[in-house]
Amino acid sequence: MADPKGFLKTRDRELPARRPVPIRLQDWREVYEHRPEDGPALARQAGRCMDCGIPFCHNGCPLGNLIPEWNDLARLGRWEDAIERLHATNNFPEFTGRLCPAPCETSCVLGINQPPVTIKNIEVSIADTAFAEGLVEPQVPGRLTNATVAVIGSGPAGLAAAQQLTRVGHTVAVFERDDAIGGLLRYGIPEFKMEKSVLDRRLAQMEAEGTRFRPGVAVGFDEGTTGTDLLERYDAVVLAMGATVRRELPVPGCDLDGIHQAMEYLPQGNRAALGEEVPGQISAEGKDVVIIGGGDTGADCLGTALRQGARSVTQLEIMPRPGEDRPEGQPWPTYPMIYRVASAHEEGGERVYATSTAQFVGDESGRVAELHVTEVDFVDGRPSPVAGTERVIPAQLVLLAMGFTSVETDGVVSQLGLEVDQRGRIVRDRQFATNVPGVFVAGDAGRGQSLIVWAIAEGRSAAAAVDSYLRGNTELPAPIEPTTMSIAV
Ligand SMILES: Cc1cc2nc3c(=O)[nH]c(=O)nc-3n(C[C@H](O)[C@H](O)[C@H](O)COP(=O)(O)OP(=O)(O)OC[C@H]3O[C@@H](n4cnc5c(N)ncnc54)[C@H](O)[C@@H]3O)c2cc1C
Ligand code: SF4
Repeated sequence: MADPKGFLKTRDRELPARRPVPIRLQDWREVYEHRPEDGPALARQAGRCMDCGIPFCHNGCPLGNLIPEWNDLARLGRWEDAIERLHATNNFPEFTGRLCPAPCETSCVLGINQPPVTIKNIEVSIADTAFAEGLVEPQVPGRLTNATVAVIGSGPAGLAAAQQLTRVGHTVAVFERDDAIGGLLRYGIPEFKMEKSVLDRRLAQMEAEGTRFRPGVAVGFDEGTTGTDLLERYDAVVLAMGATVRRELPVPGCDLDGIHQAMEYLPQGNRAALGEEVPGQISAEGKDVVIIGGGDTGADCLGTALRQGARSVTQLEIMPRPGEDRPEGQPWPTYPMIYRVASAHEEGGERVYATSTAQFVGDESGRVAELHVTEVDFVDGRPSPVAGTERVIPAQLVLLAMGFTSVETDGVVSQLGLEVDQRGRIVRDRQFATNVPGVFVAGDAGRGQSLIVWAIAEGRSAAAAVDSYLRGNTELPAPIEPTTMSIAV
């Protein structure tokens, strides 16, 4: 039972300090200095949890994390029990504790009239303390089944599915076309949000449990990896390939040099940050940079550009600036559309709202030199240019961070004849099964672009469905049913 007066004794919401901006801009390390067991402050914050009769945070969290239980265990410093309760519903709390937008906190009951419990920080503190104290051990299956599973794609959905299926004794191989495992956690999300060592220590646990990693294999394209090959070699296939087709901006000048997709820029920046030589790297050094897209991906480009030494950075968003408070139609406990400040936004750059790009103009060498933009009004929900607001923004580097439209349909999707819906998602039934027997889909590939927490929930649920398919029943938990609802990134 939580401290019944904890929320009365500690009224303030306290989070660990972020490192000072001038210092963190000099390196690529995580923005927070210290995580594991933030000591008495963490115990006080965990003690604010009221252990409500109906904990709405369970529902706010797509994984159904048992938040009040581990809040109290963290308050008492019972780390072994806390990580056991956390792992009961979440394979990778060290990822979500760093990267999740924490819909649990916007549905925290304390949040009705006080600042909500610092759930996300408590989660990452439990996970990091458990790793630091050697409490995260491989869970090797007691015995193996004869079944084999191929997981295509090594992002959070593929990894969660693989870990669950390995632990019940299936032989699981994870195929990844990049040279290293991790999906967007590896080359999309920058070091300053999550250091790759955090990913690597979890992958080491998975390898010790028996999951086989096969990086550098483009399934559907490399020899011996067509859809038919997979179905011949494996008893089941989980497609967790993400939604990687990028949204374009088809305005005049869009093919000028110096205009790049965020997912061309960020992976190179991540590699360089880790000391890799990246020939011809797209760099923001000394440039005026414009980022088109106001979401997480845009913020990641902003933090990266500032660390590379950009002269100026402007982030354009077509939607109006959200308010600081919940809009009327999004009351507690929903996840509201409000003005949020990512760590990168504290570091510099300018955010410009309700603005659309009409054209790019280049210099005589064919490189982008400026954007012609205009303010927009929303008429019947559609953006419409406001006359007389045209202006020019200088830019030698433009980064398109406008999201993703669909899964890639060449390769294994067309080889297997999988159905894809109008929004570019592989069609699946309530068991995460596609129209081809033995082929399942999880994560952004089936859901459309979403969040890490949803990808893990999908991977866990798809694993339960695969296990049922292979053995006729399962004891694996399935936190969600397939749905297309998600919070946009
Ligand atoms: C820059 C960026 C920042 C983000 N930041 C956040 C954040 O802070 N918090 C958050 O919750 N969400 C964030 N997201 C969204 C989140 O990363 C995704 O929702 C999540 O990674 C989806 O997981 P997934 O496993 O479905 O796919 P992915 O992580 O996309 O992984 C799919 C993998 O499949 C591989 N693949 C594809 N085709 C093949 C093939 N034919 N053969 C072999 N491998 C293949 C790809 O290379 C990729 O590695 C961000 C997204 C981006 C782009
Ligand atoms: S995974 Fe996200 S929503 Fe769930 S408890 Fe952690 S921070 Fe909250």
